[in-house]
Amino acid sequence: MASEDPPSLALKQALCYTCWNISSNLSRCLACKRVSYCSKNCQKQDWNRNHKALCKKLVALNESKGYLPSSNRCWKDYYAEQVYHSLILMISYEPYCYHCYRRESQIEDGARLKTCQYCRLTSFCPSCQPTHPSAECATLQVIATDDRILVDLRRRTGRSSTIAFTGLPRQQHFPLASATDWYDYYTRLSDKGGLRFKMNRDLKYQGHDRKEREFVEGIRYGTNTTTYQLTLLAAIEAIIPNVSTRASINLHIIGAAGAEFASAPAFEELLHLLPSLTALHLSFVGKNVFVPHEEGTKTQDLHTLQCCTTCTTMGRSISFTTWRGPYHAYVDTDSYKTPDLAAAFHSGFSVDEQADWYPTIEYLAHASHPTLFTAARNFEILGEMEIWKSLGAAFVRNAEVNKWKGMSPSLVVYGDRPNEVSYRNHWWYIVEQK
Ligand SMILES: [Zn+2]
Ligand SMILES: [Zn+2]
Ligand SMILES: [Zn+2]
Ligand SMILES: [Zn+2]
Ligand SMILES: [Zn+2]
Repeated sequence: MASEDPPSLALKQALCYTCWNISSNLSRCLACKRVSYCSKNCQKQDWNRNHKALCKKLVALNESKGYLPSSNRCWKDYYAEQVYHSLILMISYEPYCYHCYRRESQIEDGARLKTCQYCRLTSFCPSCQPTHPSAECATLQVIATDDRILVDLRRRTGRSSTIAFTGLPRQQHFPLASATDWYDYYTRLSDKGGLRFKMNRDLKYQGHDRKEREFVEGIRYGTNTTTYQLTLLAAIEAIIPNVSTRASINLHIIGAAGAEFASAPAFEELLHLLPSLTALHLSFVGKNVFVPHEEGTKTQDLHTLQCCTTCTTMGRSISFTTWRGPYHAYVDTDSYKTPDLAAAFHSGFSVDEQADWYPTIEYLAHASHPTLFTAARNFEILGEMEIWKSLGAAFVRNAEVNKWKGMSPSLVVYGDRPNEVSYRNHWWYIVEQK
């Protein structure tokens, strides 16, 4: 989900849709029954904001019952209606019966869906068993917990993400590959060793201090942001043999969008974990790249990312340029310099905008540098492998689960099955240089 979207819990009517208040006393819009509020005031606010227009459409949707076979309604029946109505998140994430795939407007008149009391993200109609597999419920409970962390974070700080990385540059290079997981990275390679016994391997806080709990929750939730830098670092280690003595590294981020920019301060982690590195250069290239100067100009301005005092005093720096447009066009410009590594996070090139991506993919299959790719879902990886195969590409790293994927899951909107979840940068692979 994008950072401004309401949390899944609010979309599932377990939080006030306006203020995201965690209240047990929510009341629903009586007309559409698809949003819940903690107070009349919150309802009024949302009504004036956009519910007034939306409510009518939702009522109409409720009245069109859809295809309802008397028995054996399957996920595909639900899914087909979902895709048809996919325009707003409120519909995409609506509660439906986990077993018979009916939304509330499709069950017996006046009957209500019951919510799983543990995850609050799964619903059941009165005719079905009010249970779902406990392992699945446990994963959904993580989403619910993280939703609450996010709500709390936005309230306290106004921000939607946290970034936790090593506070000071390390004197010695410890390969990231030597860390077994995020816990090992934070407590051994980074500087959160003090939390070793206060959080478990899943970065869940085990103590009783409120401030410390917020901090650990921030770290855990923040893996969805720093996943970009650690995945890059893992790829750099895989492709640059003399990485522990390199003074400069040049990275290209292809198709960069909001999430990559939100994680930008964490690029300093590369300086902090690679002691020999004094200059890191980043180029953000893509259709959605934010260009800080006039639109349409094709010149590149060099910007610097603010580093910590220690790095600055040592003369170490991170510079970046942005270029709006497709990567295969960028390579023909004067500002292009062959990178050590290019990276495309969640490109989805086998699924969306295939025609847009294809010339870039064709170029990268035989580029003179390696390229890192990530995807959230396995079927995307399978599709991508087909395309690379047809282009005769080879791999430094075959597609596999990424050790540095984000730890905070999200509900997949149009999953292959109910309650499917995905993780940021779940899968990764590196295309070889030619
Ligand atoms: Zn409210
Ligand atoms: Zn309504
Ligand atoms: Zn049911
Ligand atoms: Zn549950
Ligand atoms: Zn620094």
